[in-house]
Amino acid sequence: KWDEILEYLKIEHCVTDVSFKTWLLPLKVYSVDDNLITISIDDKMIGPDSKNFISRKYGVPLKVAISEIMNHNYNIEFVLKSQLKPANTATESDKKKNSTNNNSCSFLNPRYTFDTFVVGANNNLAHAASLAVAESPAEIYNPLFIYGGVGLGKTHLMHSIAHYILEQNPQSKVMYVTSEKFTNELIESIRNVNTTPTEFREKYRNIDVLLIDDIQFIIGKESTQEEFFHTFNTLHESKKQIIISSDKPPKDILTLEERLRSRFEWGLTVDIQQPDYETRMAILKKKEELDGLQIDNEVMKYIATNIKSNIRELEGALTKIVALSRLKKKEVNVTLAEEALKDLISPEDKKQVTPELIIDVIAEHFNITSADIYSVNKSRNIAFPRQIAMYLSRKLTDYSLAEIGKLLGNRDHTTVLHGIDKVEKTMKKDLTLQNTIDVLNKKINP
Ligand code: ADP
Ligand code: MG
Repeated sequence: KWDEILEYLKIEHCVTDVSFKTWLLPLKVYSVDDNLITISIDDKMIGPDSKNFISRKYGVPLKVAISEIMNHNYNIEFVLKSQLKPANTATESDKKKNSTNNNSCSFLNPRYTFDTFVVGANNNLAHAASLAVAESPAEIYNPLFIYGGVGLGKTHLMHSIAHYILEQNPQSKVMYVTSEKFTNELIESIRNVNTTPTEFREKYRNIDVLLIDDIQFIIGKESTQEEFFHTFNTLHESKKQIIISSDKPPKDILTLEERLRSRFEWGLTVDIQQPDYETRMAILKKKEELDGLQIDNEVMKYIATNIKSNIRELEGALTKIVALSRLKKKEVNVTLAEEALKDLISPEDKKQVTPELIIDVIAEHFNITSADIYSVNKSRNIAFPRQIAMYLSRKLTDYSLAEIGKLLGNRDHTTVLHGIDKVEKTMKKDLTLQNTIDVLNKKINP
């Protein structure tokens, strides 16, 4: 399965051939326990310093790839081959098949398709436009600009378009990317980390469809806007489809350069609004069906009545109730729902920034769970996001070092201080991290 995992990682994370050969192919599985996979790094081949780099760069993606392929969450640990007992390096039969992927580099959630998208009055225009673009890319609306608030289905629609186009035409090169990733790859290419600027350009200009999600995160970053402007022009001139999402319409993005704004408005701009009650019920029913659940209708009504402004929270509420009922071995009813949702349903529905909120955002961002961040687990792919949680909790809330430490796995205040220091020092020299922190900040405080 290791080949499969690496292949998955390569495709989902757009790893270039060169990086793949340099960093990933030399990795071997050393041992597999119940919850831990130990991976050996051939340090004779790529040098002992590579361990930090590999775990930082590929730790989390690898964990995700492993859990996707193995259907089980493992922690991973990297060890240098030279430090292992010589006896155990037998399984080196990994032969690399020439990969057949056509550069279509995308992390597409298999559940985000048109089939699972519930159409309501709040999103029917956005849905119709997306479907039209998926059916005839670059022929009608180019670019298609989708905007709407957090958790209302923009990413779901974009993935649906990508799936649809790839299904109709598996050869087409479809690239889905978040604007954060676009920025980070650009930064890295300028510093020649994984790619050169030329490779970066080729990657983004040599495609048929570009979907760029959450464009608001490149606004105000001059060189990224500049690069994106050229990418946009190249693709548009050669009649390639561009799909953009944002939390606001182009006219409300104040610091957007005029020339980019006017380009965004060349095509069609559609919005997604908050769902009405019927749509919220329909979405809950869809989720019930997809997850194979059977929930009492009163409970569904309770959720749909109380959670209005964010579909991610609507779905999260259902998940929470089911989890609580399993935990407490109680049946799902309205009383249980009230208990499960007491934190979600606050009177004024106004979110305060708390460490808990920060942790949720970070977990989602790094594809780990909030429980990982609260835990005592020290593996690097969790420890670093946890340190970011320390840093942001300190910056954005009034919690003391001791309180933050207590929350994050009962650590003492010096550990928190160290974590904050680590993040600050790393940020000074690491533009990618700066950008990521910037994006996290905006996600927490939109
Ligand atoms: P956004 O990108 O706008 O923040 P997402 O696309 O990530 O929002 O949607 C948040 C969650 O809500 C996802 O799990 C998505 O599947 C679900 N969702 C959003 N809109 C719909 C819809 N119309 N029908 C079904 N599920 C939806
Ligand atoms: Mg999104």
